[in-house]
Amino acid sequence: MTAGEIILIAIAASLGALIVFMILRTIFTKPSKTAFSNQGFEPIAVDQDRVAKHLSEAVKIPTLTVLNEGMSYQPFLDFHNYLEKAYPLFHKAAKKTIINNYSLIYKIEGSDKDLLPGCFLAHQDVVPAPPQGWEVEPFSGAIKDGFVYGRGSQDMKGQMIALLEALEIMLENGFKPRRTIYCCFGHDEEFTGKEGAKNIAAYLEKKGIRMEFVLDEGGTVLDGSIIGVNGMMALIGTCEKGYLDLELKAKKPGGHSSSPLKRNAVDLVAEAVYDVAMTPMKCKWNLPVKQLFKALAPHMKPLYKFIFVNRDILSPLLKLALRVAHPVTASLIRTTFAATQMKGSDAPNVLPPEATATINCRININESIADVVKHVKNVVGKNIEVTVLPGEAEPTPVSDIDTPAYKILTHTINEVFENFLPAPYPFIAATDAKYYYRICNNVYRFTPFTVSEDDRNRIHALNERLEIKALVKATQFFARFIENSCG
Ligand SMILES: [Zn+2]
Repeated sequence: MTAGEIILIAIAASLGALIVFMILRTIFTKPSKTAFSNQGFEPIAVDQDRVAKHLSEAVKIPTLTVLNEGMSYQPFLDFHNYLEKAYPLFHKAAKKTIINNYSLIYKIEGSDKDLLPGCFLAHQDVVPAPPQGWEVEPFSGAIKDGFVYGRGSQDMKGQMIALLEALEIMLENGFKPRRTIYCCFGHDEEFTGKEGAKNIAAYLEKKGIRMEFVLDEGGTVLDGSIIGVNGMMALIGTCEKGYLDLELKAKKPGGHSSSPLKRNAVDLVAEAVYDVAMTPMKCKWNLPVKQLFKALAPHMKPLYKFIFVNRDILSPLLKLALRVAHPVTASLIRTTFAATQMKGSDAPNVLPPEATATINCRININESIADVVKHVKNVVGKNIEVTVLPGEAEPTPVSDIDTPAYKILTHTINEVFENFLPAPYPFIAATDAKYYYRICNNVYRFTPFTVSEDDRNRIHALNERLEIKALVKATQFFARFIENSCG
């Protein structure tokens, strides 16, 4: 045998051994016994007409995020009054503190002072809803065909009402928490949260309060079949990507457009926007994505399971697949760029002395604002000024999943929902929760609504609505989670 043949045989043998190893590894990766089982759990009784009415009334108060002086804060005060009327026992049991005029902290004292409190977040504000294109008035709170319609019904008055309804029912039943419970409701989540949540967290920090866990919206319930999982995936956000708006600016002499320059300011900015879009940052694995696949892999169909169980060996292939499969899967493993605004001259026949564009960037968990700025500056070159616009946020830390709070959360999901598989993941949008890392390490995001894809797409869009069945289930989820974590 020649040396070449020996090498070939050795390569073939190692390759064979590797494939056998990968197959055995797939076979021996077994699903955990507790996943998907709801262990004969009995949920609390919820009056579905009452909870639907409460959400409907909450939706009727147009608590639009105040963005300028022309907008009023009055709806927030009306909303506070409404909550007091709708949830009398809760308001009797909880101490209320108002932060920055419109944000709310409620505290229900627990009997065991040695336990750190549990903290539930929601935001009172909603995004605008011009009535064109809606089947019903966006702030009518119409109850129709088993749904509550209106802006905020999902994002996120639905979650707030489910939480408060759960607490009210529990208090009616004589509930006394062992662990202190905080409910913190900001008033500008839809515009950075800097007036509301940020001040709430700063206030709590100043008082030296630390939380055992924080639970906010975010993380959805998705049909697992898209990734070969039989059942629903209950995704729990353990961190969130960073946020950054970059302004690109080009300057060139302005003037009459009948004798144009070869490349004016608009041309330069357009070129820069194109270059940024065509030069993305690299896809990179991050901890929560690895944890996500680790949790899902045992429950996948054979081919998917083979790929995801052997994700370390097949890493480049898998990365490529996630990149091309869907914008959402790509966004889990990379910093994204979206050009959202451009401005040149005010008149069609005038060359502008400067032109600008805004690139909205969502920063991968293991990258930073500085990394992104450096990349973009490199791509656009010296002729373009790059400026960081206000509102930037670094990616958050990743909360541990090996904690009692996370275990109680996933256990409760298994109890309340049938055929749900909880799994951690990096939340790709932004929430108020990002401000709470200063008072808590265990910050989780979960929205306990089972909604169709069509309904999910109505968030921030036309005909937002929440099925009353899902609202009732979410109320039962909160009641059980509060009982398990704070009872
Ligand atoms: Zn929201």
